Amino acid sequence: MIMQDLSIVDSHAHLDMKEFDTDREEVITRAVNAGISTIITVGIDLESSKKAIGLAERHPQILAAVGIHPNDTSSVKKSDIANLAEIAKHPKVVAIGETGLDFYRKYAPRDKQIEVLKWQLYLAVELNLPIIIHCRQAEKDILSLLRDWTLNNKRQPEQSPGVIHCFSGDSNAARQYLAMGFYLSLGGYIGYPASKNAQSVIRDIPLDRLLVETDCPFLPPQAYRGKRNEPAYVAITAGVLANIRGMPLETVARETTQNALRLFCRK
Ligand SMILES: [Zn+2]
Repeated sequence: MIMQDLSIVDSHAHLDMKEFDTDREEVITRAVNAGISTIITVGIDLESSKKAIGLAERHPQILAAVGIHPNDTSSVKKSDIANLAEIAKHPKVVAIGETGLDFYRKYAPRDKQIEVLKWQLYLAVELNLPIIIHCRQAEKDILSLLRDWTLNNKRQPEQSPGVIHCFSGDSNAARQYLAMGFYLSLGGYIGYPASKNAQSVIRDIPLDRLLVETDCPFLPPQAYRGKRNEPAYVAITAGVLANIRGMPLETVARETTQNALRLFCRK
């Protein structure tokens, strides 16, 4: 795969995870060789957020997001958020997340997930950073929490509140997120046979609001299902997106890269 002329941003990766412990540097090199200009590596708790910052310090192509994933909220205290606020001041931290709600896995009680999400929403406002939202079987609650939050916290008109990561909602949900100013990020699952029905939703999202991501090591593109995902494969997802939208890969790469930089690189 020769993609040197392309520049694509993987807007959501988990490079700190143990799945990359044996060959992390090679994975990053492969991504650079595949034309991935920037990787946002995303923390899921305090420890992994610190590791994400460490990776960003060592690699010019890597930026970090710090946050507490809804599945990891059960024992989170307010003091943990104070620690998160401290590390979020690092110059290579570009977002708060991932946070959100996951009522599918039920690793943490609903009320606790909502409480920790709200703390992070307000931290994002305080630090003027975008938020990275994970939503699984919780769309109604997420939409209403985000609506209250965006209404009560006016930002500069050119500043988006954040991104809905691994977006797989219907056109109605897409419309509501877009109206609040969010970007929608798509992963390798858009090429799965089961996602055929979602193609019309994907076609209707304005090009200037789309991002692409891997969510690696999870959710590999169709050709790598059952294997580990990695940032280089975001180029495959950009290709699938180009096919669905009937436009050249170069256009999708250029636009999604501009979008990611507009969202994450405000400092
Ligand atoms: Zn993730």
